[in-house]
Amino acid sequence: MAELVLDAVAQSYAERQVIADLSFTLPEGTIGCLLGPSGCGKTTTLRCICGFEPIRTGEIRIGGEIVNRPGWMLPAEKRRVGMVFQDYALFPHLNVADNVGFGLRGASRAARQTRIDELLDLVGLAGHAGQFPHQLSGGQQQRVALARALAPRPRLILMDEPFSSLDVELRERLSIEVRDILKREATTALIVTHDQHEAFALADWAGVMHDGRIQQWDTPYNLYHEPANRFVADFVGQGALVTGEVINDHQVEIELGVLDGHIPVECDASGCAECVRSCRVEVLLRPDDIIHDEDSLLLAEVENKAFRGAEFLYTLKLPSGQRALSLVPSHHNHAIGEKIGIRLAVDHVVAFRCE
Ligand code: ADP
Ligand code: MG
Repeated sequence: MAELVLDAVAQSYAERQVIADLSFTLPEGTIGCLLGPSGCGKTTTLRCICGFEPIRTGEIRIGGEIVNRPGWMLPAEKRRVGMVFQDYALFPHLNVADNVGFGLRGASRAARQTRIDELLDLVGLAGHAGQFPHQLSGGQQQRVALARALAPRPRLILMDEPFSSLDVELRERLSIEVRDILKREATTALIVTHDQHEAFALADWAGVMHDGRIQQWDTPYNLYHEPANRFVADFVGQGALVTGEVINDHQVEIELGVLDGHIPVECDASGCAECVRSCRVEVLLRPDDIIHDEDSLLLAEVENKAFRGAEFLYTLKLPSGQRALSLVPSHHNHAIGEKIGIRLAVDHVVAFRCE
């Protein structure tokens, strides 16, 4: 295991720049996720880190060792980086034990067997050593692929959309299992996904990618609660932006009332450290920021609703016509068109300057 650093990395295919100025640090022993829409450069980033792709500017370091710089790269087989792909890529003619032991050919027979047993145990497949890949479910195959990648004790594990061939329920369960496995091996791992639930279940650190850049590299909690810009706010979690007016540097007024808290606005390009009254902003409201309260005099109209089992996600039309979302326990089953009482429960303000 080792720390991974990307420092101002850019990469292009022919004339087309795919990664531009990409930087982040993944501390030793932690799990990071790159999250972003399809085509934003996630796979390309992994290909650079594992040594399949040259970079145009910047530097990539693993455990302090430079592995990529413009015009030079350490060969992939010397990086001690394990790779897990979306389609498992197991060897179909090898049984589970031989797949896992594939990267251990230099070890003694006994040491190899010990490591295979240890890993099959770790991924919960101890009874499957003699089976072939086609005899296993998708989730089991992916665990074999992970065990194979972990076997030679790499400095870093890279996983590209490892769960996307699996059905949704299995995906969530497997992401929790994989986190547990990686933590028990104390591996540094970087996992690519376009699914934020996976990223949230797995990651210590997550980066939202867009336009070839990391928009924010942070804990999943902060990505959700303190998004650095509109793109992150929109991509991570659900929510709605409503207009507001700054009262002072710690209060903003929206149509539902006054919100208190630090106002992290780039409210004024000239850098107004102290926001002045009447700056116009847009305030992010998450579905859990608006609570249904039958005693409240503040009313909003149910415009749409989605049943989520324990909750309804209501789309509400506020008095001004702006929309907001609210998660409400599902025994409060209100009809579309009905007006329901709401109140705000925002514990900190996320606001962006009006464009
Ligand atoms: P992601 O994994 O986030 O979906 P990719 O890294 O695969 O995105 O691709 C980023 C962009 O680079 C896409 O627009 C894709 O079409 C382009 N691209 C990927 N691989 C190549 C390639 N070998 N040659 C040219 N363009 C490529
Ligand atoms: Mg990809």
